[in-house]
Amino acid sequence: MAVEIGVQTFYHFINGKWEPSVNGETFDVLNPATGELVARVAKGTAEDVDRAVKAARDAYDQGDWKNMKPGDRANVLNLIAYQITEHAEELIFLEAVSSGGTVRRIKSNDILQMADLFQTMAKFIVEYPFSEALPVPSFPGPAQSFIWREPIGVCAAVTPWNLPMVIATWKIAPALAMGNTIVLKPASYTPLSTLKLAEIISNVVPPGVINVVSGPGDEVGEALVTHPQVDKVAFTGSTEVGRRIMLFASGTVKKTTLELGGKSPNILLEDADLELALPGSLFGVFLHSGQLCESGTRLFVPDKIYEKVVEGLVALAGKLKLGNPLDPSTDVGPVISKKQKETILSYIEAGKKEGATLALGGKEVQVRGCEKGHFIAPTIFTNVTNDMKIAQEEIFGPVLSVIRYSHLEEAIRMANDTIYGLAAGVWTRDVNQAYEVARKLQAGVVWINDWHMLRSDAPFGGYKQSGIGREMGKDSLDAYTQVKHVYTSMASELDRRPWYGILFGENEGRGEA
Ligand code: NDP
Repeated sequence: MAVEIGVQTFYHFINGKWEPSVNGETFDVLNPATGELVARVAKGTAEDVDRAVKAARDAYDQGDWKNMKPGDRANVLNLIAYQITEHAEELIFLEAVSSGGTVRRIKSNDILQMADLFQTMAKFIVEYPFSEALPVPSFPGPAQSFIWREPIGVCAAVTPWNLPMVIATWKIAPALAMGNTIVLKPASYTPLSTLKLAEIISNVVPPGVINVVSGPGDEVGEALVTHPQVDKVAFTGSTEVGRRIMLFASGTVKKTTLELGGKSPNILLEDADLELALPGSLFGVFLHSGQLCESGTRLFVPDKIYEKVVEGLVALAGKLKLGNPLDPSTDVGPVISKKQKETILSYIEAGKKEGATLALGGKEVQVRGCEKGHFIAPTIFTNVTNDMKIAQEEIFGPVLSVIRYSHLEEAIRMANDTIYGLAAGVWTRDVNQAYEVARKLQAGVVWINDWHMLRSDAPFGGYKQSGIGREMGKDSLDAYTQVKHVYTSMASELDRRPWYGILFGENEGRGEA
């Protein structure tokens, strides 16, 4: 990594080394809390992508990584987990100053989640059925068959700015666990922590197994997901770009997984424990200024407790302290950029125009010491109807829509009335009722009396237009695997082969041993 006076410059990470862009260009990474220049980063081109893919291809074909015994690879994954905790301080800093995530969250959640994921994948691959023998079948004939599960090859990962490190890890951990190699393209607002992570991981894996090329999505991202030497694409980002990625990847029929947007419904039942449900629902929507794909942005509240709930939400949310993410006393940090701030403010205007009642926030906030930052007050709209723009479109900001309902079936119908299906939640003291509701909700994860709780051993992903495939859990290993059936006939003589009679007409006894 080259160091300029005062400001660090990060290059691409290719084949175990820091590499400047072929054309020498860089772009600036700014701190969303202060507007300050944090670092300069190599601005990649298709040529840089080609170099990284070639390194990943060579590392894959050379075979040290893919042919390593699963138990040995598990040891390496555990070492990566250890390295992450060893380098936590630097990772937390890079993540906070570029993504605006609070150090409080990154330290107490993200780092632990990343290490836990590598450890979980290590456990999984020790037991993974890399080779599975099938019983001898009666049809189509006596045979010994094996199912072999093999890595796919070179994987490409394109990731967003909201949780850069965690989301990169969701792709790196299963890809590496299965013996693949990988090239990542992090979001241009937040490439730093992913680049650092690649360096940390490369301390314990062969060169070329992990590579990162930074630069604009429409150039570097497109070059990566269309590259003929890339075998699999994993994308997290907006549904809009996800549709394009699917199209690009189709050119060479790459295996594709997509984690996309959400507009997650959160249903309060009349018997909900409000002491728990109100802070829990606010945690569900205002964590990371609402810039989480699975945020619970639509809160459905029954008539009977509507006024009480709104009053409680407004009182609690009004106490949240906006500030510099590096300050451990900060509850809520900035939104990622001026552009994102303007988008969120335009949604707030749309909500007002459509007739929703602004109960809290709804404006930009000046934070002392962070005058050039992009802060928006936690915002609560009441009297929202589910057809309003603010209830249908993903805002990706600190905006909660509170929607009234009379009957539970009506709430469930509205909850499912969206193009998305990433997450959902229900708050009640009646666990049977909770499961009944959970069964009817169209979402990849349903929280009962909780929110945002993700486990490394459980799958995460979307129904409907929230994506294709699952990350974490055992399912994620399958997404980085291709399956081969190896068939050996046990019928030694020609006329006992089931196919003999089919073509040569003398043996009608298909399946006979
Ligand atoms: P975007 O879809 O705008 O960008 C995501 C990534 O795609 C970035 O690295 C971006 O690069 C890249 N990209 C943009 N255009 C192209 C292109 N034409 N070809 C290839 N790559 C491209 O999402 P955001 O970064 O704005 O992230 C927010 C979105 O991510 C939200 O919709 C959110 O719901 C979703 N998300 C989903 C999650 C899930 O697990 N389902 C988790 C987290 C976020 P660049 O930065 O250079 O533009």
